[in-house]
Amino acid sequence: MARGKIFIFSAPSGSGKSTIITHLIALGLPLEFSVSATTRQPRGKERDGVEYYFMSAEDFQHHIAADDFVEYEEVYEGCYYGTLRSEVDRILSSGQNVIFDVDVLGGINIKKYFGSRALSIFIQPPSIEELRHRLEKRGTESPEKIASRLDRARMELSMSLQFDHIIVNDNLQKAFTEAEKVVRKFIAE
Ligand code: ADP
Ligand code: 5GP
Repeated sequence: MARGKIFIFSAPSGSGKSTIITHLIALGLPLEFSVSATTRQPRGKERDGVEYYFMSAEDFQHHIAADDFVEYEEVYEGCYYGTLRSEVDRILSSGQNVIFDVDVLGGINIKKYFGSRALSIFIQPPSIEELRHRLEKRGTESPEKIASRLDRARMELSMSLQFDHIIVNDNLQKAFTEAEKVVRKFIAE
């Protein structure tokens, strides 16, 4: 059986990663989403074990001490996010390809960990102003949280060239088509 491939989608918050990943999975591409652990509170209709494994800061620290994470980051002050080895092993051992939604530093680390078996994709927003607009429209974060996400976006945008592929998400249909094309091509290689 072919070894599963790794797809890493990274971008500043609000760029459209989750929207694009959800679309690729809905198309029926052979991809299974790697559910990360996080200490942030669930928002909207998020369910434990589907979008994230929601856990306390204490439980997260236990997993760090037990070396259970492939990588983890304090993406925003006081909010930890991490990729559990058990999650990745479960998906790969079932023969499936894995798709990750992680921050930019996490994306670079996962690419280093998996090397040529992984394709890292940076979703680039048209501008910081447009990011602000999308985050405000999404309506899931307080104004302070939006400001902290935009602060971090400047650093994240400067790291796009470290990714294998950049998709500019200006027009969503175009971004969907391009993402589908690069994922299908890498699966077939
Ligand atoms: P991320 O997962 O990167 O934080 P989301 O996928 O949640 O981003 O997208 C942020 C918001 O922007 C969502 O409300 C989404 O519907 C919207 N969005 C995504 N792509 C576009 C686009 N090309 N044009 C306008 N709005 C978009
Ligand atoms: P959100 O709170 O909007 O769901 O996610 C905030 C940021 O954390 C996003 O950039 C998302 O991709 C990132 N993230 C989610 N899971 C992980 C993970 O396991 N590791 C890392 N490094 N970042 C993650």
